[in-house]
Amino acid sequence: MIDYAALTTQDFFSHADLVALLGATDPKDIALIQKTAERVLLENCGNAVYYRGLVEASNACSSDCFYCGIRKSFREVNRFTLSADQIVECAVLCSKSSYGSMVIQSGERGDKAFITMLEESLRRIKEETRTKEQPDGLGVTLCIGQQTREIYQRLYDAGAHRYLLRIETTNPRLFAAIHPPEQTFESRLECLSDLRDIGYQVGTGVMIGLPGQTLDDLARDIQFFEDHDIDMIGMGPYIPHEGTPLGSHACPPVEERVRLGLLMIAATRLKLRDVNIASTTALQALDPIGREKGLQFGANVIMPQVTPQEVRKDYQLYPGKPCLDENAQACRSCLELRIHSVDRVVGYNQWGDSVHARKRQSSETGARE
Ligand code: SF4
Repeated sequence: MIDYAALTTQDFFSHADLVALLGATDPKDIALIQKTAERVLLENCGNAVYYRGLVEASNACSSDCFYCGIRKSFREVNRFTLSADQIVECAVLCSKSSYGSMVIQSGERGDKAFITMLEESLRRIKEETRTKEQPDGLGVTLCIGQQTREIYQRLYDAGAHRYLLRIETTNPRLFAAIHPPEQTFESRLECLSDLRDIGYQVGTGVMIGLPGQTLDDLARDIQFFEDHDIDMIGMGPYIPHEGTPLGSHACPPVEERVRLGLLMIAATRLKLRDVNIASTTALQALDPIGREKGLQFGANVIMPQVTPQEVRKDYQLYPGKPCLDENAQACRSCLELRIHSVDRVVGYNQWGDSVHARKRQSSETGARE
């Protein structure tokens, strides 16, 4: 019998503690974990929820992950690539909406035309989104998969300062079971290390509720975030896509994946304390108020859709993605209401870097002086 009242007073969480947190099923215990994670968030990161306007730049991908709805061998997808003008237009929309930051996401492609177009977009974004409130322009996070170190460096030099590369699972066997052989666990680790060396704030994350995944795996994922000094986490429940090789494999029921998704946010908040954690759309896809719940369990980042409406439906990593039809203004108002409904405020016009990254950067600066 686990004493959750005692467990939630701890400052240090062992592997066994994390497994216990993730295994909570009694609503009273879950409410206690939620309250504690929310308190730890407010004490360490404050009350603000930061926006990253999400631009899906291209759904073309050179990879074939077994769970993904835009994998290269999935023929039914209408492939698109936004132009630099379109990406910059989305960025200006973010800036006018006072979002503070944006995320440029795409399938994994390192072809010259695409990377050059991204470089140009980044340079223009940094110029064209300078305002009185944001003299350095929008903050930009990239999420475009595994690339060479040279490409990471070029995009950093062009103005991106955060990079999200999800490890998806830190169990190497499970990783190998859901990825094609050319996508290796080791190469993903190498990419994470290159990103850190270059100077990016580094984000990663996992899918929760994968076929064959255990609580031990998930607890190790949280330990991995700490061991790799990760600044920001983007993780959400696994949502099977019927047209993919993994889609037919049995996974836990929806309620269990949502519960685990929320408990992963809470346990990560309790263990890591000052990182940024996104409340992802995957939570909302499975539960209409999933994103609000994510905030209450310790998340502090939300990604409003700003992808042009006409291509949004073609970027479906999983089925049931929310906000396909709302325009950017409707999305902004809807999200603000959702955030206020859980007694939080929006950190408008701020990059919203994680406290964790800011502390590390100031200690590195201090060490150099
Ligand atoms: S998960 Fe990313 S890299 Fe893998 S197939 Fe989908 S878009 Fe491509």
